[in-house]
Amino acid sequence: MYAAEVLAISPEDLEEVQLEQNKVGKAILGVPYSTANDAIPLLLGLKSITHLVAQQKIRYIIRLNENTDSAMLRICWKYHQDRKNTVFYKRSKAFLQKFALDIENLHSGSVQEMDKGIRTELLTQLSNRSSLKPVLVPVKWWHPLSWISTTRWSRALTRTLVMNLQLGNRSDVYKNYAPHVENGRIIDCPICNDGPNNEIHLIVECKSLSVTRRSIILSNGHSIQYLLTNGQYETAQTSDGKLRLFLGLEDGLRTKDYVERGLAIIEMVNVFFNEWSNKVDRQVPRPTFD
Ligand SMILES: [Zn+2]
Repeated sequence: MYAAEVLAISPEDLEEVQLEQNKVGKAILGVPYSTANDAIPLLLGLKSITHLVAQQKIRYIIRLNENTDSAMLRICWKYHQDRKNTVFYKRSKAFLQKFALDIENLHSGSVQEMDKGIRTELLTQLSNRSSLKPVLVPVKWWHPLSWISTTRWSRALTRTLVMNLQLGNRSDVYKNYAPHVENGRIIDCPICNDGPNNEIHLIVECKSLSVTRRSIILSNGHSIQYLLTNGQYETAQTSDGKLRLFLGLEDGLRTKDYVERGLAIIEMVNVFFNEWSNKVDRQVPRPTFD
């Protein structure tokens, strides 16, 4: 980030650095690379590189405007301001415009204004993602804590994991092993052939996995299968209603419950790929979470 306030960084270069930052973020969170990029800064409470560069540029220009010590700097800055067509001026202006900021009207509150705008935009993007439609996305920004598992937002991690299981639907590799394929997507669950190949079916419905669901015992003494068919879950009319309860809408969930559920989901995915491999009599490659 050294000298980022004066460097004429191109949007392409920034985008590449941004991709790397997202990769590191995904590795830290242990989520697949296909995870939505906009979820990463939200889950980690990080600012994006682009965000940090913009912040540095704003602070620098405010300092230039307020400069009372250096006559040399004042003359140089005035030179840019009078002409408005110098490379530094034009690029800085265009960069700040992306954040709805006017280079001529920067003030001490501009950084905070930009922060707020970016957060709102990220949350809106994330809430509108179709893969996150079945769950509630937190609507408040949060600050990073030392351990992800101790934050109340750890539920968001579980959710992201769940919505990105990659049940063979996002890669050409898997369609050769599935009976019904349409436009590269696997239509029916490859292990029971009796339902769609998606997360709702896997976690709540798939009959081939009911043995597994019965074998996973939660700390309240009940199995996943019992949980999904009794108590609060009985009132849920649909499978995605049940999934929502399971992923966070159930009353009184604690961090421990989220961790247990996250592990249970990983186990169900393991069984899914093992059963699938048995069925087609070859090892179906597993998407990795690293
Ligand atoms: Zn199934």
